[in-house]
Amino acid sequence: MKVHEYQARALMESAGIPVPPSEVIEVADDAAAAFQKLGGGKAVIKAQVHAGGRGKAGFVKLVDSSQEAVESAGWMLSNRMVSNQTGPDGIAVRKLLMAGAVDIAREYYLSVVLDRAKRVPVMMASAEGGVEIEEVAATNPDAIKKAWFHPHLGLQPFQAIGLAAAIGLRGAQAKAASKIMLQLGRLFLDKDCSLAEINPLIATPDGEILAIDAKFNFDDSADFRHKDVAAMFDPSEENPAELRAKEHNLSYIALDGNIGCLVNGAGLAMSTMDIIKLHGGEPANFLDVGGSVTPEGAVEAFRIILADDAVKAVLVNIFGGIARCDVIADALIKAAREIGFQIPVVVRLEGTNVEIARKMLAEANIEALKPAADLTDAARQVCAAV
Ligand code: ADP
Ligand code: MG
Repeated sequence: MKVHEYQARALMESAGIPVPPSEVIEVADDAAAAFQKLGGGKAVIKAQVHAGGRGKAGFVKLVDSSQEAVESAGWMLSNRMVSNQTGPDGIAVRKLLMAGAVDIAREYYLSVVLDRAKRVPVMMASAEGGVEIEEVAATNPDAIKKAWFHPHLGLQPFQAIGLAAAIGLRGAQAKAASKIMLQLGRLFLDKDCSLAEINPLIATPDGEILAIDAKFNFDDSADFRHKDVAAMFDPSEENPAELRAKEHNLSYIALDGNIGCLVNGAGLAMSTMDIIKLHGGEPANFLDVGGSVTPEGAVEAFRIILADDAVKAVLVNIFGGIARCDVIADALIKAAREIGFQIPVVVRLEGTNVEIARKMLAEANIEALKPAADLTDAARQVCAAV
């Protein structure tokens, strides 16, 4: 789960990490009052969306009057943001954060993620922070310093001091930065984050260290023990089809291609996408109906796939283990009757009750259904169909 910057900022504040004062606004006219509340000096208005690259997209703006604040806010709330982290259609902006502007002497990068290879959290810090951090990671990875830490013991003070020194901080600044590192490391563990990132962490000309932008993601499996985090969920930022799938316990992720996939098991779904690509096709989605799929769940899966206009053919790939092929066949027949298949649906079934399922499908005699002999045959057929 992702949260907005203003929500991440609230979490940081409660953990003691220093941030500039800020206000959240949803209508442009409120920008004037927010600007005055922040002291009426200089402020930065930032779109609150679940995507980065806002600065370069023009959705982080420095303003120095109430009037300019209202104008900038109005523009951001009425334009879609397109950045390298959104699709070409961009995303709508519903909320803005206005933060007091600070003078920046240097921008640093600081984050915690799980290192899957080492199986422990890792804190990363760099003196090359700001809007070009992806570029730094690609071209100058040595500029990113790392400290791995124990998931129960947390980041240790000596590690934080070492990291602060490694990114060139000295004296009081090093002390302030290492305190923030310890606080961020603690927050990552306490809230079951999958990402806790401050970019940039800045030093002001008079040596103060502040968090200017933050991005926090959370492990959904730990939702149940963080009611405060779960309450930050913003459905308007989610893909509607993905939300609908979630309600029916389906794992669905929308992709850019035109071949809809209905598969049981995440591993099989991955290999289904691979084999589609191998035969020159592009999957329109990842959909794992899971092992305990019901006919209703499977019919809903078809509704979700077929609601996507980009889908020109569907590949159903079921390996019946816990999921039974006859349940899927039943769902296919129901879906064909209820929704109607206007596009070819290639079906590869194997495993538990496959003979019963084949018989059911043959008897139902649905024209759009194309049985496949095996997975390669299925991939060839569906790629040919689109
Ligand atoms: P994004 O990462 O989405 O581009 P940021 O919040 O990191 O958005 O803003 C981009 C840049 O804008 C920052 O690297 C910083 O240089 C500047 N900036 C952002 N907030 C402030 C602020 N409160 N005061 C001064 N400069 C800011
Ligand atoms: Mg940033």
